[in-house]
Amino acid sequence: MIKTPKLVMTPGPTPVARSIQDQTARETVAFGDAGFVGDYKEVVAELKGILRCNGECFIIAGSGTLAMEMAVSNVTRQGDNALVCTHGFFGDRYTEIVQRKRLNTDILKVKWGSAPTPELIDKELSKKNYNIITITHVETSTGVVAPLKEICSMLKSNYPEVMVIVDGVAATGGAESYMDWGIDILLTCSQKCFGVAPGLAILWASERAVQARKSLPPIPESYIDFEKWIPVMNDPYKYWGAPPVNLIWAMKESVRIIKEEGITERYDRHKRQAVIFDAAMESMGFLNVAETIYRAPTLSVYFYPGESNISDVYFRSILAKEGVQAAACLAEYAGKGFRLGHMGNIDKHTLVSAIAAVERACFRCGHKIEFGKAVGILQEGLIKEHYEKNYEEN
Ligand code: PMP
Repeated sequence: MIKTPKLVMTPGPTPVARSIQDQTARETVAFGDAGFVGDYKEVVAELKGILRCNGECFIIAGSGTLAMEMAVSNVTRQGDNALVCTHGFFGDRYTEIVQRKRLNTDILKVKWGSAPTPELIDKELSKKNYNIITITHVETSTGVVAPLKEICSMLKSNYPEVMVIVDGVAATGGAESYMDWGIDILLTCSQKCFGVAPGLAILWASERAVQARKSLPPIPESYIDFEKWIPVMNDPYKYWGAPPVNLIWAMKESVRIIKEEGITERYDRHKRQAVIFDAAMESMGFLNVAETIYRAPTLSVYFYPGESNISDVYFRSILAKEGVQAAACLAEYAGKGFRLGHMGNIDKHTLVSAIAAVERACFRCGHKIEFGKAVGILQEGLIKEHYEKNYEEN
């Protein structure tokens, strides 16, 4: 029997396009190779442009968690006041990171499935003077997107002195955000909306954040110090830590794809795809855990239907056999459902195959569904999109 290839529909890693994989497979060169140095410089500049960043962009070896630490470490000192907004597992991770930095930490905890609002944040910040706030743009444990633009605009007018750190790991490059909304540090990694293999931590810092670092004494960490990396990002002939050459090439190709699509179209596509994907999933009885107005454009988290008695581990193993890798739910949601990504370079083949595999997995697990119904809903959505967007060339 021919093996069914696995579609990586987890909320990271996401499917890696052929042309991006090709870059990862290239023959590695020395860090000082003139071609590579030019490529590194170019991808840093392009990423600054796409996210409208007036400061610095950093691309270094690491994962999203490293970028979370890098953000806090460069703009705070022990004893600073921090407000961490958490609406799930990764917001809780930020709480731990901030507390380990020995900041005076207050936590704005919002129930899973919902999002922190400008009003809630305003109320919390009015209680004392804060140095930083951290916000998770898309919470990967719930598939909730925070109303970041509205939050940033409230912060800009009511608390302009507070440094704004945004965890964009499951959002940046797929869910709309721009540094000039008033973000001081935005961070992500390669394996999410950029559709590159895991291994790169990516961070944008506003001019104000860069200056904040300069005003600090030497920070305890060296690998993640802005001051060590700024010379390298501006002139990659310089060295601080080994640049992951092939991943940087892969990132360059990812940025080329984003520019070809256009960043605003990319944000719009994610929104449209999420709506039709969700309609197809809900038609099979799965329950999206996110409040409707806060459903993320980049991933969805579904509970199994109450009456179905589906065993989570069994369902996901059958789904994998049918060709789709899904992620387990985390912490308080563990065992109750599963998480599917729909971010990055997701094409029509991928979407249709993913929903078709879920239909087959449902059947094999004894969950009654009508074959083709969910796929049909998806197909109708895709074709409607085709005509509305006038995709003549495709
Ligand atoms: N923040 C969010 C919102 C995430 O989804 C993740 C990873 N899923 C992280 C941080 C941590 O990223 P990494 O696993 O690359 O360290």
